[in-house]
Parts: sequence; C-alpha cells; structure tokens
Amino acid sequence: MTYSQPQRYARSADLFEKACKVIPGGVNSTARAVWSGWDPHPLYVESGKGSHVTDVDGNTYVDLCLGDTGAMTGHAPPAAVAAMAAQAAQGTTMMLPTEDAVWVATELTRRFGLARWQFATSATDANRCSLRIARALTGRRKVLVFNYCYHGTVDETLATLEADGSVVPRAGHIGPQVDPAETTVVIEFHALPALEAALATREIACVLAEPAMTNIGIIHPDPGYHDALRRLTRETGTLLIIDETHTICTGPSGYTAAYGLEPDILTIGKPLAGGIPSAAYGLSAALAARIYGAATGEDCDVSGIGGTLAGNALTLAVMRATLAEVLTDEAYAHTIPLAQRWAEGVQGVIDENALPWSVTQLGARAEYWFLPDRPRDGGTAAAGVDHELDAFMHLYALNRGILLTPFHNMALMSPATTEADVDRHTDVFAEAVAELLT
Ligand code: PMP
Repeated sequence: MTYSQPQRYARSADLFEKACKVIPGGVNSTARAVWSGWDPHPLYVESGKGSHVTDVDGNTYVDLCLGDTGAMTGHAPPAAVAAMAAQAAQGTTMMLPTEDAVWVATELTRRFGLARWQFATSATDANRCSLRIARALTGRRKVLVFNYCYHGTVDETLATLEADGSVVPRAGHIGPQVDPAETTVVIEFHALPALEAALATREIACVLAEPAMTNIGIIHPDPGYHDALRRLTRETGTLLIIDETHTICTGPSGYTAAYGLEPDILTIGKPLAGGIPSAAYGLSAALAARIYGAATGEDCDVSGIGGTLAGNALTLAVMRATLAEVLTDEAYAHTIPLAQRWAEGVQGVIDENALPWSVTQLGARAEYWFLPDRPRDGGTAAAGVDHELDAFMHLYALNRGILLTPFHNMALMSPATTEADVDRHTDVFAEAVAELLT
C-alpha cells in the first residue's frame, strides 16, 4: 500500500527520515504511530483551520479525524484562540486557583448534574484519579471494564478477555506494572449475567465504562442496559464511573444527560479546552466530602491525585471559552445532522453494492465496520477488524484529500464541517468501493 503520487508528500517523506533518527517511529506520540504502520510514512501537518488540515507539502484535507476528538471544536476555534492569547499574556500557570475554575465547574454541574468538579491534565489522568478515588472510597482493589474498551493509558484498563474467561494484558501494552488479572475484571458489554456474577463478589471498587462504546467501533447499549448496570452497581456498593471523553459527541451534556444516567463519577477530557491538554472529573457532594475531607492538611500534596499543571489558569480560561462559545447547543444542532448525512451516504453505497458492512451513528460521530450486523460487544467487533482493508480505505481517502480517524473508520463532525465536506467523503468512499469490487 502506498501513496498514489509520492512526490506530493516529498517534505513529509524527508521529515520522516529525519524524525526516525531522533524520535522512535518518527511520530511524536505512540498513538500517532498508527500512521507509520501504513507505508510508506506518516504525513507531517503544518496547520489546521476549521474542518481542514494542511500538511507540510501544502496538501489540504477535509479532517474527519479531528484529533481523535481533541479538535471536535474544529481547528483553531476563534473564541478559544482568543481566550488562549488573552490568558497566555496574563500568565499560564500559577499555584493558585482562578475565577474561571468556578465558572467551569458550575457549567459542568449544569450540563452533567454532578455537584463537585476537579481538573486533570488529560482524560487518562482523570480516569486514573477516579480509579484511585473509587478504591479509596470502597476499600476494594478491583476495577471492572468492558472488553476492548479504551480509557487512555490507564494500566488497569489495558486488559482483554480470553476465551477461557481469563484476563490478560491487551496486545501492544508495554510493561504493565501489575498483572491486570490482579487488578481488573473484564467482561463483554451487554453480558449481564457476567456483570451480576462479578459484582456479587463485592471485590470490585468500580465499573469504568463509556456509556456507548466508541473505541472498537460504536456500540450502542440496548434499551434498559444502563438501568441494569446502575441497579447492580448500587446493590453491590460498586461505584459507577462514566467516561464521556468521546461520547460528548452525543450532545452538549453528553450521553449522561441525553439518556438520564446517574454516574457516581464522570470523567471527560480531549475537546474541553479547544484541544489543549485538559480534563475534568465530577462527583457527588457526598462522595467529594468523603474523599477530599481526607485529602487536606500537610500531606494533601502527595495524594496521588492532581498535578502541577492540572487545571492551570490557561486551561481553565480556554475551557470556559470552549464551553460558553464553541461546544454549544447550536453547534450540536449543526454537527449531529451532518453525521447523519455522512452515515446515510455511506449506507447508501453499502446498500447499492450489497457489501457485508454496517454503519453506526452516535450524535456527531459515525463509523462503518466490516461486519454485516452492528456488533453488540467488543469481542465481536474486534473479530471484524481487517487491518489491510482499513489501510486501503484510509490511504484511498488520504490520497483524495480526506483524513479519517486512524484507529478505525470513524468520522467526527465539528461546527466548521460542511455538507460539502461530508459529500466529498461519500463520493470518495463510493470510488474506493468501486475499485475494491473490480
Ligand atoms: N477515554 C476515552 C473514552 C478515550 O477514547 C480516550 C482516548 N481515545 C481517553 C479516555 C484518553 O484520552 P487521552 O489520551 O487524551 O488521555
């Protein structure tokens, strides 16, 4: 597999050669290394504006990846850029709270319902803090997650389920500190008997879940599934942590408000501050009093929770601008119909060609999967992954000016995305399918 006109990517090729001498894999985060798995080299980006990115060779792409949600605001949203510039000129990080923190926490309570908020540097960091809090509050050690979940580089969650029911480190996980079989119970999404049996042991501090899975394709919960999850967690004294980092695509207050969920802790990161590192986690007033009551006094700085740059002045100022002016109700009224248009376009091509593929939409996000029926759990979805076909579809689109999320065939809409952007993808998708079938 290769780029159709390698000369169009000459500067990227040159940079890759130089980068490999100083950066392992030539890309500046292991997550970005997915690109270099596709011959012959990743593209280096020059800039992003609205729904487009431009590479160092001057090629412009419709960006449906949007920084894997970090840029679901669109690139360089003017309100966030203005807040960044204004706050940067007034100091980025002081070891003192700012007024913006109060505004943002109040807004997060309005959106998600949880009464108390803290800030973290990334969604990974928010999840790590939440797991610690859950263990401290329950006095239990184990965490329950769903097979093929992704919650960041959190050791306890980088685990998968074997056919014999055992838990193993996820393929690709580097250097787990502790065997995840000791820290983690993994079950399939929708496997209620397994959930009931696992929680009945009362060894599990918390369930950490995306409300709809988005990291192994999109998997919607069956009606009633969340009621059962909430009932069983409550009955067994297990805390429920809902990770809204991706499902904030559902609506301005995430899946939680859209479907009336009642998590004990909610985590969210990525797009909250227009793409600069930021995250937050919320919890009830009662839980917050129990945990932070203990975390005061002379030892509170070594709690294992928080960090020097977490919730700094710059991040909070940009979070405020992003929540007030970018990720608004109006923005979702624009992005959700676009995702529907994208899904309908792709479905139309699938139907015309009688392909054994399926499409799923969740708010402003949509995705196609190489299986005829939408998978209902991570194990089934993972079995449908076809790396060669993935690489073909991604490179085909890239060669024609469209960037999809590298991990799978996912598209996300930003307030700056247009119908023309979406229709361009549908056309290219149809061409790719036509070539595949000849
Ligand atoms: N939670 C979810 C649901 C995610 O999808 C991700 C990243 N894809 C994370 C957490 C971690 O985000 P980050 O890498 O920004 O810490």
